[in-house]
Amino acid sequence: MIFIQRSQEPAVLQNKGKAEQQAFCEAYDAGKREFKFDSAIYGNPTVKTALLKMQCDKCCFCESKISHISYGDVEHYRPKGGYKQAEQDELHAPGYYWLPYTWENLLLSCTLCNQQFKKNLFPLLAPQERALNHHDDITLEQPLLINPSATDPRQYIGFRQEIPYAIDGNIYGKATIAVVGLDREALNEKRRSHLALINQLIAVIKLANKQLENTELQSVAAQAKQIIAEAILPTAEYSAMINAQLPALH
Ligand SMILES: [Zn+2]
Repeated sequence: MIFIQRSQEPAVLQNKGKAEQQAFCEAYDAGKREFKFDSAIYGNPTVKTALLKMQCDKCCFCESKISHISYGDVEHYRPKGGYKQAEQDELHAPGYYWLPYTWENLLLSCTLCNQQFKKNLFPLLAPQERALNHHDDITLEQPLLINPSATDPRQYIGFRQEIPYAIDGNIYGKATIAVVGLDREALNEKRRSHLALINQLIAVIKLANKQLENTELQSVAAQAKQIIAEAILPTAEYSAMINAQLPALH
C-alpha cells in the first residue's frame, strides 16, 4: 500500500453525482432509509479511467496491477450501502448514503481486496463517533482502515521481507492488514517471488562493487540498478515492499 495523490475530480461526479447525493439527503430527512445507487455515475468509464491513472493501474490496497487480470472495482472507502464495525457484526444500514459519488471517497481496488476481504467493513477507533447520517461530521471519525489517498501508509505498515506488519504494533496498521487481507498467502507468495528476484539483483550489485575491473559484471550491475530503480517507483507492483528493503540496497 502506498500514498495515492488524488487527481482532479471527473466531471460526471460534479454534473450528475452532486444532485443525486443532494436528493439522497433530502430523502433521508423525509424518512427514507433505503437507497439505490447508480453505478453509471460512480462506475462511469471516466471515473474508472481517472482512478486507474491516479493509481498507476494498481489496486489501492495490495498494489497488484489490475487491468491485465480484471476491470477492477470502484471501491467506496466509506461503504455506501451499509457498514460493519467487525466481521461478525450484523450489517448496519443505511451506510454512507451521502457519499456514493464523492470523489474523495472513491478508490479502485482489485476484486479480492474488495469483495473477499473489505466488503462492508469500516471499523472506527471509537464507534460511538460514527457519522450515521449526512448531518453528522465525518471528520470526527477515526477510521482504522488507512485511506491511502489521505494518509501515507508507510508510517503504519512495514515489511519483514514480503510479510506486511503493523509498525510498533499500531492499531491502524493492524486493522488495515486484516481488513483488506494484505497478508493473505497468495499475495505473500507473489511478493516473495518478486523480492527473491530483487534480492538476486542486489547480490549482483554487491558482487560488482568488489570487482570494479570486471567490465562485463559492471554492465550487468548497471542494468540491475536500473531494474531496482524502477521497482521502487509508484508505478511498480509491490513498491511499498521494495522501498522497505531499501537499506539492503546500500
Ligand atoms: Zn488488491
